[in-house]
Amino acid sequence: MNAFLNETHHALRKKVRGFAEKYVKPVIGEFEAKEQFPMDLIRSLKSLNVFGMHAPERFGGQGSDYLSYIIAVEELARVDSSVAATLAAHNSLGVGPIMEFGTEEQKAKYLPSLCTAENLWAFGLTEENAGSDAQGVETVAKEQANGWLVNGHKKYITNGASDMSSGISFVAQTGIREDGRKEFTAFLVSKGAPGYTREFMKNKLLWRAADNGMVYFNDVHIPAEDQLGERGQGIKIMLKTIDSGRLSIAAMGLGLAQGAFEMAVSFAKKRKQFGKALANFQVISFKLADMAMKIENARNTLYNACWLKDNGHAFGTQAAMAKLYCSQVASDVTGEALQIFGGAGLFRNDEYPIERFFRDQRLLSIGEGTSEVLRMVISRSVLKE
Ligand SMILES: Cc1cc2nc3c(=O)[nH]c(=O)nc-3n(C[C@H](O)[C@H](O)[C@H](O)COP(=O)(O)OP(=O)(O)OC[C@H]3O[C@@H](n4cnc5c(N)ncnc54)[C@H](O)[C@@H]3O)c2cc1C
Repeated sequence: MNAFLNETHHALRKKVRGFAEKYVKPVIGEFEAKEQFPMDLIRSLKSLNVFGMHAPERFGGQGSDYLSYIIAVEELARVDSSVAATLAAHNSLGVGPIMEFGTEEQKAKYLPSLCTAENLWAFGLTEENAGSDAQGVETVAKEQANGWLVNGHKKYITNGASDMSSGISFVAQTGIREDGRKEFTAFLVSKGAPGYTREFMKNKLLWRAADNGMVYFNDVHIPAEDQLGERGQGIKIMLKTIDSGRLSIAAMGLGLAQGAFEMAVSFAKKRKQFGKALANFQVISFKLADMAMKIENARNTLYNACWLKDNGHAFGTQAAMAKLYCSQVASDVTGEALQIFGGAGLFRNDEYPIERFFRDQRLLSIGEGTSEVLRMVISRSVLKE
């Protein structure tokens, strides 16, 4: 039971959980071990109608609330983070900015194919010298006849390099403002544009079955109609997109913590030492109690932030808090769960993939605002009040 959830949310959770248990769980360990992006598996998520699900129906979406989408990410992350990350990046960072800042023509052109699970769309802010500091973006777009000429690169880009990746929204420097500060503008570019190339980044600690890549722009011509939002609004668009994206990273933390907790409970009931199941030692059962309490608090914090967004209230601070808190809970819970597994937690195990969960949680306090940056965001808001 949870006060934020209605029958639609419960039905969706059941549907996504059933899919993840039946189709993702048995195969994902192998893709992860081989560091392969499971394209057919991702396409099979089509049956769940979760791609672009919060987009309006007239553009091919389901018109669902944000909380529904967050529950879908949570349920996928309960089983695997690479698959959950693929959906989270696509919906929040891919579909999100086109839906929020695109023109009617851009929405009609791009959104329908992004709501089918056939194509993925990426988001590019990060570069060699632009991580936490978005002002460090060095990709340049120069105005030319009928559009822009772009040169530069983006790194670590989720859904950026596979054959399913049909394009990217990104930000580039477009000049210097009157006050001497740099001007940034956002753009859309599709696969196949001459000079737009991509390559997989290998050897990741985590999300090893997700598509993360380098993206290069070498004299890429972008037509004027593919500018996203107003000139000079690029950083604002990207940061607003990340506000919503943080809710999905929080959902990944919550779902991953839930999955790790369930594994720990099951193992603690089975594994016997000193003639008793581990769960019968108070030290272990208290660990489980603390894990359950943190997950409950994480869920309420996240769902409340979604409720604020769904009901038209400011939610940026609460999204930052939810992301910071859920990623900390994911770290605490996987750490304690792995401790309960003892040595068995340190090897790949497809029945109890706690070793993978322990690695996967590490992204959550780095991507879409590190925990340090989130504390800066929250403290600014607290000091303003
Ligand atoms: C798997 C993966 C997927 C990703 N997907 C995408 C994507 O799809 N699109 C995209 O654009 N980016 C993506 N990223 C990039 C991600 O958002 C960045 O890694 C993140 O924003 C941090 O930037 P950075 O790695 O450059 O670290 P830095 O910004 O270099 O930070 C390094 C350390 O310094 C700290 N630090 C920085 N500034 C300060 C400060 N002012 N005060 C105190 N501490 C500070 C940070 O908290 C951190 O601990 C992805 C990254 C990964 C690993």
